[in-house]
Amino acid sequence: MSFAPEQIKILSQPQAQLSIPTAVKSYPIIYQDLKMPFTPLHMGPAIAIKAVLQRKFSLMVFGWSQIVIDIQPLYAMLTDNGELHGFSHTYIGATILGLLSAVSGKYLGEWGLQILRESKHLPISWSVSFLSASIGTYSHVALDSIMHADVLPYAPFSVANPLYGIISIETLYIGCLATALFGGLIYSVTQTKN
Ligand SMILES: [Zn+2]
Repeated sequence: MSFAPEQIKILSQPQAQLSIPTAVKSYPIIYQDLKMPFTPLHMGPAIAIKAVLQRKFSLMVFGWSQIVIDIQPLYAMLTDNGELHGFSHTYIGATILGLLSAVSGKYLGEWGLQILRESKHLPISWSVSFLSASIGTYSHVALDSIMHADVLPYAPFSVANPLYGIISIETLYIGCLATALFGGLIYSVTQTKN
């Protein structure tokens, strides 16, 4: 993807100046991604991690952290107000939201497992909850950094986003789908053995 000079100028501006209408007008590809803030692609690598870490990793808490971190873009999209990804999609924001997701996710995850009658996965320990939520928010920022020009992961210290465009969105989607399929396959094999 190549940008016109005026688009590059907008991209290099501090994030606070990037309103949704500007982004929508200037970057149809970004808008295409934004139509679905809770993209399931983040779950692909999580399924592979679950296959490796087994009971030391909670998909419930991980999934909850994906919702928590995308509340900001959802709010921005619904209200046409505020930063699109902003503070939530920085590594500092991810640290804070990871802690919040871990504390709330332990209880919500256990509640979800009870509803799903998956009591063999209960309880979710605090260490599992904190690990799953922090993997969730940090990996979310990393993946969104590749896809979205307005994600500034190192803000407020730097406006650099070295991961942006490092691979195409199509390659990223295929990679996440592949990790979901292979991870799911390995996990189901390990479950039938137990
Ligand atoms: Zn996001």
